[in-house]
Amino acid sequence: MGRKAKDYSWPAAPPALPSPVIDNHTHLESLGDVLREGVPLPSISEVISDAARVGVSKMIQVGCDLESARVTDSMIREHAALAGAIAIHPNEAPLHTHTADVGPDGLEPRYESRHDTSLDDALAEIERIARSNNKIRAIGETGIDLFRAGEQGFLAQKESFRAHIALAKELNLAMQIHDRDAHQEVIDVLLADGAPERTVFHCFSGDAEMADLAAQHGWYLSFAGPVTFGANNELREALRRTPTSHVLVETDAPYLTPHPYRGRPNAPYLMPYTVHTIAHVQELNLVDACQRIVENTHTVYGLW
Ligand SMILES: [Zn+2]
Repeated sequence: MGRKAKDYSWPAAPPALPSPVIDNHTHLESLGDVLREGVPLPSISEVISDAARVGVSKMIQVGCDLESARVTDSMIREHAALAGAIAIHPNEAPLHTHTADVGPDGLEPRYESRHDTSLDDALAEIERIARSNNKIRAIGETGIDLFRAGEQGFLAQKESFRAHIALAKELNLAMQIHDRDAHQEVIDVLLADGAPERTVFHCFSGDAEMADLAAQHGWYLSFAGPVTFGANNELREALRRTPTSHVLVETDAPYLTPHPYRGRPNAPYLMPYTVHTIAHVQELNLVDACQRIVENTHTVYGLW
């Protein structure tokens, strides 16, 4: 007999957490992008109420291309549980400068109509939205992605990253960093330009040494599904050494679904798995872990 077909449906909801917690990085406008045929797409209100039912009470919605930033602007006005982060993603920057090249992932650049806008104009639009909506609490995700870029692309990413750092400082907003295969490059830019006061490594992927460096500089580390994966002992060691005051949690939904549902779609209601791992590694009881994370989240992004 053949093997059982792979399951791409929504996982069952986990038991509710004993205390509310906040997902500081999710892409609710993109949930439909990962769903196979026949798998239902929940409305934003349903996503929020499913999350609330298991204790994930609030979220930072991240819109990191020109279109998603505009969608984020209106989505967070509509839903009390949401605040927002907006930016031009490092993988978008070289498309806006028309210098995109092929990185180690081997994918050809794919230009869309939004990339007709220059990087300067795109950044001006991010600034306009951020200034006009007080629920935008962070500039992000910005940074460097050396999996998706070659030498030319890297230059555009770096230019864009520096502009985002300046914008976060100018507007006194937090900043969320995307760092893929680019730890040293990201750190170099942060140290050269000076990091914004509240700087968060979204989906932190560094080792213990990098976590120590982040702690020295007061940077926050946000942990996502990968911290639950069996093989990621090095990442858990980094988490273990991170001061509890600088730990955040996220889903990065619809990507990075936590264990035991890797490969299936992700949404904020699945974040309790990651919270359990954080509590365990940080040697906190679950209530303390949730409360500390909420405190940290409010320190970084303010109340909403
Ligand atoms: Zn993300």
